Amino acid sequence: QESAQRVLQLLEAVTAMLQRNAQQLGDIDAVAGDGDHGIGMERGSLGAVAKARDVAARGAGAGSLLCRAADAWADKAGGTSGALWGVALTALGTAIGDQHAPDARRVANGVRHAKEGIMHFGKARVGDKTMVDVLVPFSDSLSAAVAKGVSLTDAWLTAAGVAEQAAQATAQLLPKMGRARPLAEKSLGTPDAGAISLAMVVNTVGDLLK
Ligand code: ADP
Ligand code: MG
Ligand code: MG
Repeated sequence: QESAQRVLQLLEAVTAMLQRNAQQLGDIDAVAGDGDHGIGMERGSLGAVAKARDVAARGAGAGSLLCRAADAWADKAGGTSGALWGVALTALGTAIGDQHAPDARRVANGVRHAKEGIMHFGKARVGDKTMVDVLVPFSDSLSAAVAKGVSLTDAWLTAAGVAEQAAQATAQLLPKMGRARPLAEKSLGTPDAGAISLAMVVNTVGDLLK
């Protein structure tokens, strides 16, 4: 399946990027958390790619591939963010499905479902200093552009820019969720690790859509 091959390529690029940035993500997480965010994202994405290659070779569609990759990500990553990435990719894969080539509306809808899944599962709200602080403006920007008829590539690139800004802006927030909470004041001035990695992921995908 052509769409599945495309999703596999995106996952491979994301994994390579996370391997290059694992140290930096761990260092950010170590400021007020336990320092394992880089290794967690690296392990999760590597597990997801291995599973995605396997199911793509058996002819899976894009949606099924994402759902299987999601389970492998959560399984191999461990940690809060691994479980949340599993939830997000499952929601995205389910919304995209296997029947159609994923068009702009389908992708924006999938990202919205991923956002809703993460917020339902993790209970974080905007301002809590988590990946939600990036996912909400990213999803809103993507949906708004797509609703105006902007192409998927252009809409994604605009939203990826919004995500980058939102990730940097988490530096000013105090954490209210997750392991960073007991060390809240120490995290002032440092962005949230999961917010930064999410912005990196959507920007890597954007570079490949160009
Ligand atoms: P852990 O916190 O279990 O060590 P990671 O270090 O991999 O897991 O991930 C930490 C990131 O997960 C945080 O920087 C934050 O973005 C995200 N996170 C933690 N808890 C939540 C939550 N309840 N909702 C959304 N995101 C969360
Ligand atoms: Mg951690
Ligand atoms: Mg941990």
